[in-house]
Amino acid sequence: MACRMPELPAYAAAVLRALEDAGFEAWVVGGWVRDALLGSASHDVDVCTAAPWQESERALLAAGLAVHRTGTQHGTVTAVSEGKPVEVTTYRVDGAYSDARHPDSVRFVRDVREDLARRDFTINAMAYHPERGLLDMFGGTDDLATGLVRAVGEARERFDEDALRVLRAVRFAARYGFDVEERTHEALAEFAPRLALIAQERIGQELTGIFATGRMAWALERERAVMVEAIPELKPLVGFAQNSPYHAYDSYEHTVRVVRGMECVTAGCANAAMRWAALLHDVAKPATYSEDESGRGHFFGHPELSAKMASSIMRRMAVPGEIVREACALIRLHDRPVTEAGRSLRRTVLRCEELCPGRGEAVAFELLDLKRADDLGKASHCWSYCSELDGVSSALRRELAAHVPLSVRDLAVNGSDVIRERGLEPGPGVGVVLQGLLAAVVEDGVPNTRDALLELLRL
Ligand code: ATP
Ligand code: MG
Repeated sequence: MACRMPELPAYAAAVLRALEDAGFEAWVVGGWVRDALLGSASHDVDVCTAAPWQESERALLAAGLAVHRTGTQHGTVTAVSEGKPVEVTTYRVDGAYSDARHPDSVRFVRDVREDLARRDFTINAMAYHPERGLLDMFGGTDDLATGLVRAVGEARERFDEDALRVLRAVRFAARYGFDVEERTHEALAEFAPRLALIAQERIGQELTGIFATGRMAWALERERAVMVEAIPELKPLVGFAQNSPYHAYDSYEHTVRVVRGMECVTAGCANAAMRWAALLHDVAKPATYSEDESGRGHFFGHPELSAKMASSIMRRMAVPGEIVREACALIRLHDRPVTEAGRSLRRTVLRCEELCPGRGEAVAFELLDLKRADDLGKASHCWSYCSELDGVSSALRRELAAHVPLSVRDLAVNGSDVIRERGLEPGPGVGVVLQGLLAAVVEDGVPNTRDALLELLRL
């Protein structure tokens, strides 16, 4: 690999200098080194040093930098240099891990090499110094060049210590389009069940990270053993035959294709809700399966149950509420027919608005993308529906240009009009009449104009 390091930013060099002027060796480590070797130095800078944190703090303050005690129990302080934070951590090794995640203790050490050896992957275990150059004890540069995520040392031990590394491996591979080195890959499968010991919130963060790479489909396919442990509800989909003329693949393979399809139809710009929805849209298929006399499979109620399961999965992983709500709305509606007919479009937008107040129009377009992606995951004779959906999208755009009311508030008449025209007393009856007008516009295509609605009120 052409190993031309971009220049270390001045604010970070100032931190190294402050520590070294005080007599403590210091290196840049981890993500900045990795990304710099890959040609992008946009990563924040982490520094490790021989100085105990109290000495780091003293040296940095003496150099005029602000210092925050952000994790002194692990030897970390954060310097603020030219307005940018730089984490400075004392060389350390981890003690025993009894909870599959956190070391019971950390031990501070004198040698940077010991610190590098406790890191997770070779590409993350390199140190760099502007004068001393690159310190790469485990072949991280070669692995970056070949495109491999490889555990530092014995892979099985590393995943045994900290099960979260199992998902981190998948995330880093997805992020850079790398493969997982064979022994590391085997160890991933063996230790994936230990993800059960990891906090759900951390699993959610790693999955969000994998989604953000746009390569979730790759992760599901190549590292299936890991992904079904991260979300155990996916396990029953594996090998689940659908026995349906619409489906050429089992439920898991279909899901992988829909997740990939979502990236394709949105050119990689799907939002988090759309990605979660693609992943979980059919999660309840095994639970809702029934067969008719001909042996054909049906999945009555699967959108509703999938939405329910998705909600519980995402909530336990602390996915933000608005993403959960939108993903579940998409899942609930994914099987609903939508045609170019005005009534079908208006009903769809209204339903999206009911489920995601304030987002009805956007969610309706997201739903069409999910339906496109869903078709791409079905048998090839279903794919033509994908181009029909282009027509539906255009029709939806035209319909929305005519200002479809999404609630009674959007009607061209209001409660006072109803009271006056109908001679009603203010009260719930007024709302009922307004709902009737909304239905007339959405269902029967009565124009949402003052004249048309007043005429209806006067009937
Ligand atoms: P990102 O861009 O995702 O933040 P990063 O390399 O900065 O990438 P971090 O999770 O911020 O990743 O961790 C910083 C460094 O600390 C890593 O590069 C790695 O050397 C080490 N590290 C982090 N988490 C672990 C872990 N669970 N086990 C071993 N080493 C770890
Ligand atoms: Mg980081």
